[in-house]
Amino acid sequence: MLIGVPKEIKNHEYRIGLTPAAVREYVEHGHDVIIQRDGGLAIGFTNEDYENAGARIIDTPEEIFASADMIVKVKEPQPGECKQLREGQILYTYLHLAPDPEQTRLLAEAGVTAIAYETVTDNRGGLPLLAPMSEVAGRMAIQAGAHNLEKAHGGSGTLLGGVPGVAPGKVLIIGGGVVGTQAAKMAVGLGAEVTILDRSLPRLRELDDIFGGRIKTVYSTVDAIDAYSREADLVVGAVLIPGAAAPKLLTRDHIKNMKPGSVLVDVAIDQGGCFETSKATTHQDPTYVIDDVVHYCVANMPGGVARTSTIALNNATLPYGIALANKGIDALANDANLRNGLNMHKGYITYKAIHDDLGERL
Ligand code: NAD
Repeated sequence: MLIGVPKEIKNHEYRIGLTPAAVREYVEHGHDVIIQRDGGLAIGFTNEDYENAGARIIDTPEEIFASADMIVKVKEPQPGECKQLREGQILYTYLHLAPDPEQTRLLAEAGVTAIAYETVTDNRGGLPLLAPMSEVAGRMAIQAGAHNLEKAHGGSGTLLGGVPGVAPGKVLIIGGGVVGTQAAKMAVGLGAEVTILDRSLPRLRELDDIFGGRIKTVYSTVDAIDAYSREADLVVGAVLIPGAAAPKLLTRDHIKNMKPGSVLVDVAIDQGGCFETSKATTHQDPTYVIDDVVHYCVANMPGGVARTSTIALNNATLPYGIALANKGIDALANDANLRNGLNMHKGYITYKAIHDDLGERL
């Protein structure tokens, strides 16, 4: 199969679909790989690295979209890219279609077979291709929150760890999955006082086991969100309902009751956000202030640490990618977990939660 990897074109997105090490794996399996010139240069993967791994360097994305059997990307295709996709071609990338009817319509028009990283499952019901980016975003959420709590960035001037004689800052994490757990690790590492809310009691039990008495676990109710958000210096939004838009758990009224200069980091913004006042921002202009509360809602947080993220992502996507390259869409017939990744095929939405969210609006 001919695998094509265009350079990412979203604002400040420096990740790339394949690392040189991943290219070598595809080539070892008998496939050809074409990579856009300088596609990985910003994160230290040179054209020479890719050529040494067995890829051919191609000058324009148009040539890649026109000839490849499978396009491997990181972010959802932008409108100009969607229009170059075609029936019979596989698109293997993050899509996040639920909050994005325009992209869904363009992919339907293209007729492409679109496999979304974020809905591929594993045998335990986890999301193995979302997990590495969630790990990155969870760890970054605390870094971003701590940074924005500084006075110069609009925050209250609170140091999360406190110092001897000064109480630490309070971190509220809503959603105790992969993002929430990694955020908690960083917040605990900084010395903050950490509370995690989740709707899953089994998950709260696991978190209690992982962190012992070092964090508080609380069942997620409107009352709990109300009480803990009033006290928090930093709130991290980390909920997920797979394939669906995020529920708005923190309302404008909650936010009005928060301390001035406190910070919200809505990691779930890529699924529409879980705070009522969230709107997607970019690494270039990551924050805005509403009701004296700083909002950080960068939709592609892992893009900020693009080298680490690209390598972590490739570790997870590679085995499924190789299966698709070896067998084409027949790979889905043998693997229910990979089949769960199928979001669009020949103009149809093939993922129920996305159809439920968007079906009538297309
Ligand atoms: P996950 O499935 O591991 O965890 C989600 C958790 O949310 C689960 O434990 C679930 O029980 C909990 N939850 C669901 N409804 C809840 C509620 N009402 N109250 C409290 N908890 C609730 O998911 P994850 O991998 O941690 O991802 C979390 C979010 O982060 C997703 O929306 C994902 O798309 C997003 N994400 C964003 C970025 C970014 O760059 N912005 C990067 C990676 C992941």
